[in-house]
Amino acid sequence: MRLEDVAVPTPGEGQALVKIAASGVNFIDIYFRTGLYKADPPISLGMEAAGVVESVGPGVTEVKPGDRVAYSMNRGSYAEYSVVPSWQLVKVPGSLDLNQAAAAMLQGTTAHYLTHSTFPLKKGDTCLVHAAAGGVGLLLTQMAKMLGATVIGTTSTQAKADKARAAGADHIILYTEQDFEAETKQLTGGKGVGVVYDSVGAATFEKSINSLRPRGMMVTYGNASGAVPPIQPLLLSTKGSLFLTRPTLASYCATREELLQRSGDVLGWIAAGKLKLHIENSYPMSEAAQAHIDLAGRKTTGKLLLIPSA
Ligand code: NDP
Repeated sequence: MRLEDVAVPTPGEGQALVKIAASGVNFIDIYFRTGLYKADPPISLGMEAAGVVESVGPGVTEVKPGDRVAYSMNRGSYAEYSVVPSWQLVKVPGSLDLNQAAAAMLQGTTAHYLTHSTFPLKKGDTCLVHAAAGGVGLLLTQMAKMLGATVIGTTSTQAKADKARAAGADHIILYTEQDFEAETKQLTGGKGVGVVYDSVGAATFEKSINSLRPRGMMVTYGNASGAVPPIQPLLLSTKGSLFLTRPTLASYCATREELLQRSGDVLGWIAAGKLKLHIENSYPMSEAAQAHIDLAGRKTTGKLLLIPSA
């Protein structure tokens, strides 16, 4: 990765130019950089930011110059300016600063759809949340608790375990030291959990499947340790009529209505103090490579931001 000076882009039909105050770092940026997710190089990385609308192209009705906005799932946010389809921009409530908004959008709406739509949690459910101290993990844990579920989290270190517990996790398994399948079975009286939220991928997939109760749901939503290899559908039958899904945020914020509903909940809960953000570090944009090294090296918890003006 390197910084390059390029012309400030001009917004076209249905687009707005956003002057970026803070850009969120997400694991998806690592997948694009390494080539696990395909894009034609040179790639402008970054899928999330908050800032101020500088100008708008023809036909834009959702925002106007001067609006404080946030967005996710539009590539190119590691920058001072980015053009974004205006339907993807949400207005930031007055009580939130732009760093908070940048930190909340992608991981917050992800945690929202996973807990409210993919497997809608309710009181009495038990879920297994891998990487529970991560960016998505801490938010997912809090939302699962808001919905009344029991949370079994996994983390690699005791320090991360403490953060996940502070976010509400009922039990923590140090999956680098303990067999999380055996521990999960023991914690659920031999039954297994109703849902596994697995963002780790290759390293955890098999034991995650084995941690489910019959008719439970395997939600494999990330590949932090590598992509999950192909499986035979028959496996789902032999393990107890399991459900398997590989969701992505784009399908769960596919319309403006759905985007506004999810981001409205997330930003509203933060403004109301019901959902806590954990912004671990803000790096100058010029140190984007260090942010990637830290995130890929499992050194971080919560959210990392890049600040273009720093
Ligand atoms: P995190 O902050 O959760 O960082 C990743 C964490 O994964 C690490 O801190 C680490 O936690 C754990 N991990 C386990 N094995 C590895 C490994 N081999 N290499 C690196 N990390 C590992 O990142 P994000 O919150 O940005 O993303 C979390 C996951 O959610 C990613 O897989 C991402 O792709 C996915 N995601 C999916 C979305 C979707 O819609 N499908 C949307 C957003 C995110 P520990 O040290 O405790 O093991």
